[in-house]
Amino acid sequence: MITFVGAGPGAADLITVRGLKRLEQADIVIYAGSLVNPALLDGTREGCEIYNSAHMTLEEVIDVCIRGEKEQKQVVRLHTGDPCIYGAIREQMDLLDEAGIEYEVIPGVSSFIGAAASLKAEFTLPDVSQTVILTRMEGRTPVPEKERIEELARHQATMVIFLSAGMLGELSQRLQEGGYAPETSAAIVYKATWPDEKIIYTTVAQLEEAAAANGIHKTALIFVGEFLGDRYERSKLYDPTFSHEYREASK
Ligand code: SAH
Repeated sequence: MITFVGAGPGAADLITVRGLKRLEQADIVIYAGSLVNPALLDGTREGCEIYNSAHMTLEEVIDVCIRGEKEQKQVVRLHTGDPCIYGAIREQMDLLDEAGIEYEVIPGVSSFIGAAASLKAEFTLPDVSQTVILTRMEGRTPVPEKERIEELARHQATMVIFLSAGMLGELSQRLQEGGYAPETSAAIVYKATWPDEKIIYTTVAQLEEAAAANGIHKTALIFVGEFLGDRYERSKLYDPTFSHEYREASK
């Protein structure tokens, strides 16, 4: 059995209980070395084989999984955050299917969730935005034309931009082309939940300068939207004059 595990955003104790159990029982761990906290490997068994996938191709990763399966070993494939977000797990699962190997997926706390906690922010504020857009700028991986930043920006929803910290000048320009005012609130969260985390509050127009002033060019998320501001309506759920299935309105 191969287990894909979300390692969480950084802090070693933000892995799930289930993920940690699998990790502690593993005979082989293949971890995404660029972003997974190596402290998570401290709890692995004596003699556990550890591979850093940063130095491996897809085929090499799958070869380790296939060998592990043949040797009836427990293999954990440890991904940063949650594996469903830019985790490239689909191609691994498809090759495991071809090889007739079973696998399971254990979710993790994605970095955008870890960063929300660091920001002490709520992405879905009544009257501000009820939608969260997770996206990226194109790099070597293309982004479909209909998902261009300018197009997504038109919604003025809460936006979270991954994998783009090295392209903030262009990001800022394209967000503005999509309709965000230059002074729209933005935040850069570098290494959310790691000991060297940095949070920078800025504006859409100032993204590039703000990152440069703080020496940030990777491992950061960009947040854009008025959820970072002060204006919102109170929720209906906790409104004293509003009844629902579990609570009668007070008179
Ligand atoms: N599966 C991961 C994302 C992998 S893509 C997840 O769920 O979080 C890698 C990108 O995620 C980085 O370029 C960066 O934009 C973001 N990222 C990952 N960990 C981060 C962290 N702790 N703080 C800020 N951004 C992070």
